[in-house]
Order: sequence, then structure tokens, then C-alpha cells
Amino acid sequence: MLISMFFSVLIYNNVSRQIEGLIRMQNNRIRSFQFKRRDSALSEDLKKEKRQLGYTLILLNLAIITAASGAGYFLAGRTLFPIKLMIDEQNQFISDASHELRTPIATLRAEMEGKLLEKNISDEAARKLISSNLEELETLQNLANGLLKLTQIHTLEDANEHAEKISLLEIVKLARAKVLPLAKNKKIEIEIKMSEIIIKGNKNNLIEVFVILLDNAIKYSKKNTKITVSLEKLEHEVRILFSDRGIGISEKDLPHIFERFFRADKSRSQADGYGLGLSIAKKLIEKHRGLIYATSVVGKGSVFTVRLPLFI
Ligand code: ADP
Repeated sequence: MLISMFFSVLIYNNVSRQIEGLIRMQNNRIRSFQFKRRDSALSEDLKKEKRQLGYTLILLNLAIITAASGAGYFLAGRTLFPIKLMIDEQNQFISDASHELRTPIATLRAEMEGKLLEKNISDEAARKLISSNLEELETLQNLANGLLKLTQIHTLEDANEHAEKISLLEIVKLARAKVLPLAKNKKIEIEIKMSEIIIKGNKNNLIEVFVILLDNAIKYSKKNTKITVSLEKLEHEVRILFSDRGIGISEKDLPHIFERFFRADKSRSQADGYGLGLSIAKKLIEKHRGLIYATSVVGKGSVFTVRLPLFI
């Protein structure tokens, strides 16, 4: 705008000077009578031209300021849009997290207040209270760890920044070892049907994803069932399939299971959890430029597929 105004003033002064020069020249010629009428009309025309130029320049500048303001408004909006999305997401995260934290805190408080009202608390009752409180505290701790993990993933660099050559078979075996006590409790067998394959990625993050998937498969399966981990190798990617014969996921819930804090109603009543595992797994796989999705039949079981590029 300043540049435009600067040049407008420059043009106006320049043209004014030329017009005034012409008028002066014409005034000199006025002395000869025969030119008088024609030249005074010419002088009026020149003054009119000068005024016209002034108006045109003002209009031009107004048009520029309007266009610049409009474009500025539009571009600022476009630039701020992702920032607004990020702030909205952060607010949503804080509100979801507080909501989830409230339940165990309220339970803890209610239990302690209830016991405080009793005049005499027996040793046994006190022990019961403490162990129940410890359970709630464990819930809180796990929830806080999950929340922390979710926020840390945002700041993680792409997995290929620190990618190492890793054996997928070894990772699956390590993940199985971590969930084995849970599987044994429910007499669930975890069968690994895959051959050795080397990919590039972040070992710890992939172990974490596979533990989440195996842990879910155990949680949402009945006793004495079987979980199978198998592998499909394609030209540019590998697919690792985690199949269980568990309760399955309804069509209505399936599109939401990777959302933060989502839990199917059936799962709420059947197993512990906060609905964070799959959203963490999804984010970690995305950091590997991979994909994770599920197919399921209610009552028959689910298959979670992780697709990873062979070389990232
Ligand atoms: P959590 O298991 O802690 O509830 P997740 O994010 O791991 O949270 O899973 C979200 C929801 O997806 C679960 O509550 C459950 O309803 C559903 N789900 C995940 N894995 C399975 C599975 N293998 N079988 C059936 N339902 C599953």
C-alpha cells in the first residue's frame, strides 16, 4: 500500500509539473489576441485532466487497499486454519483426559469418605480399602502413562530417522513373551505362523504395537481359544495379521476403535482398559508410514492387519 501511494504521489507530481508547464507556455501565448479563446479553453481542459488524474489515482489506491485487505484476510485465515485445528484437538484431548481421570478419582474419594464415616474400622476393612485404593491408583497410573505416551508420539520423529534393520519374527516373539502370563491365565495359545523377515523400523515402537494388539486379542477372547500371528509378504510391503476367535467388533463400532478413548459398550463391561491402546498403535504405525486396520465378525473374532513398507 505504501509503495502504491509513493508511486501515485510521484506520478501525480510529475504530471502536474508537466501540465503547469503547458499552462505557463499557453499564458505566454495569450498575449497574441487571435489565440486567446482557444488557449483558455485548452488551459481549462488541462486542469480538468489534472483533477481527473488525481481522482483516478485515489480510486486505484482504494482498489488496491481493498484487494490487499481481502487477500490478507483470506491468506491469514488459511495460515491460521491448521493452528486452529491443532488448538481444537489439544482442547479436546484435555477435556477427554480430564473426563477419564475423574472416574477413578471419584471412586477413590467415595470409598475413603465412606470408610471415614464409620466409627471403628477393623483391620480387615482397612486392608480391603487400601487394596481397592491401590487398584484405582494403578488404573490412574496406567491412564497417565497412556496419556503421556500419546502426547509424546506427536513429538516423535519419523521412524525412518532412527530406523534400524530388525527381524519381524524376533519382534513378534518378544511381544508374545510380554503377554504370555495373561494368555496362560486364560489358557489361550498364541501361534506364530511366519518366517524370518528383515525390515527397517523402530524396534521398541513395533514391539509396543504388537503387545497392544496381542493384549487386546487376549482381553477380548474367551478361555481356551487361539490367537494366530501370520505374515504376508508383497513386493513393497509386509502385512502382519493378528487373528483371534474372540467376541468380535460390531459394524457400528468398527470405524471408531482407533479413536482416542473409544471403547465398545461390550468391552466396558468385560475388560479393563481406557480406549487408548489402538490410538497409540495407529500413531506409531503411521510414524513407520504404514497402515493398521481391522476386520471383524461379532461372535467369531477379529483380524487386525499391520501393513509396513519393506524399506522406509
Ligand atoms: P482398550 O482395550 O483399553 O479398551 P483399545 O484402544 O486397545 O482400548 O481398544 C479400543 C476398543 O476396540 C476396545 O475397547 C474394544 O471394544 C475394541 N477392540 C480392540 N481390540 C479388540 C479385539 N481383538 N476384539 C474385540 N474388540 C476389540
